[in-house]
This record gives sequence, C-alpha cells and structure tokens, in this order.
Amino acid sequence: MTASAIYGVYGASGCGRGVAPLLEDQLQHQNDIEIVFIDDGCVERVVNSFRVLAYEDFIRSDIAVKRVTIAIADGLIRKRLAARCVSDGLEFFTTIANHHVSMANINVGEGAIFCPFTTVTSNIHIGSHFHCNIGSYVEHDCVIGDYVTFAPGVKCNGNVHIGDGAYIGTGAIIKQGKPEKPLVIGSGATVGMGAVVTMDVAPGSVVVGNPAKPLLR
Ligand code: UDP
Repeated sequence: MTASAIYGVYGASGCGRGVAPLLEDQLQHQNDIEIVFIDDGCVERVVNSFRVLAYEDFIRSDIAVKRVTIAIADGLIRKRLAARCVSDGLEFFTTIANHHVSMANINVGEGAIFCPFTTVTSNIHIGSHFHCNIGSYVEHDCVIGDYVTFAPGVKCNGNVHIGDGAYIGTGAIIKQGKPEKPLVIGSGATVGMGAVVTMDVAPGSVVVGNPAKPLLR
C-alpha cells in the first residue's frame, strides 16, 4: 500500500540520524505515512531502516503530501535547502521530542527541531528552522532569529536576542539580558563550545572562552 504522506528528514548524517527516530515517535499514531531521509551525497539506500532518497527522487515521488525538515546543523546550508524546498512547493514540519517542555506564549517558525530534554519557557519568539539540540534551554523573553543552531546543552537565559544564522556551541552559557537592554548575539555569529557569554557578540564574529572574547586568528 502506498503511503498518503511522506516525511523527509533532509540530511542522513549525524544530525538527521538523531532526528528521524524523534519523528518516528511523534508520528507513531499516524497510519499511512513514510519517513525517509533526503540526502544528495549519501550512497547508502537505507540508513537505520529509513529509505534514503536524493532530493530529485523525493520531489518525483507520487505521494501527494510531502513534508520536510532540514536536519543539518549548518544554518547556511539549511537556508539554502529551505529556499530550494520552498521553490518546489514543499511544506515544512516541526519535530518535537517526547521530553520537550514548552511553556506559555511561545511563537515558533516552521521547520524547527526540538530534541529530547529541551525547554522553552515563556514569552519567546523563535524564527524558522531553529535547531534546539539535546538538553538545551531558552529562557523567558528571548528573541531568536531564523536558522539559528543550538548544539547540545546550550543555556540561553532570559532577555537574550540572537540574530539569524548564529551558531551556539555545545554547553555554552549565555548570560541573561535586561528587558530594557537585551544581551544581543549578532547574525551569523559563532559562540564556541563551553563559552560563557557575558556581553553582546558582534554579527559574524566568533567568540570563545570564559568570559567569551573574540577569537583572534
Ligand atoms: N547534504 C545534502 N545536500 C546538501 C548539503 C548536505 O544532502 O546540499 C547532506 C550531506 O550529504 C550529509 C548531510 O547533509 O549527509 C550533512 O552531514 P554533516 O555530517 O556535514 O552535518 P550534520 O549531520 O552533523 O549536521
């Protein structure tokens, strides 16, 4: 029997392999669906029991309802692939692990991924294609842009604003801002793993250490 909807996890590498089982859990009560990987570089046809399709084959599939999430940690790649999916009229879906907690007044754009043991508290705005990796949290009154990536264990405290495409490394801690003066991490910035961010981070810069400072190269 042919499925009535096909869910594509774009990227069959580390990130995608962590996301597909979450989706399987999320959709366990839906009949007639298939979860596949979409990957342009993977030579295997099956990964962890999910079929792997090249993007063109996914598009050509005769299943009418096609939904995608982009499970690739690099925000720039997500942006490029999202534009491709939009131009082909694909819908995005949001993946939410069982052990995720979302509290009150939260706005999240399309295509987000919330891994296990993540928490988003209250009065928070998050753009599209956000990755919130294992054990990360977003505290009250944060504003997070599009294509932002939290590696595992990011602690993002209240009143922090993060620009589009920023990457926050594993275990980073971001100090809370104030309602009248949020702490700002600029678009495209990278925060190194374990960094303790106590001040604003300039767009496009890389900061590391405790307290986090620009990386001099
Ligand atoms: N990929 C793709 N199309 C692209 C760029 C990447 O299908 O335009 C796939 C790539 O083949 C790889 C995966 O996305 O399988 C990215 O894997 P990587 O290990 O670089 O990143 P991660 O899974 O850790 O985010």
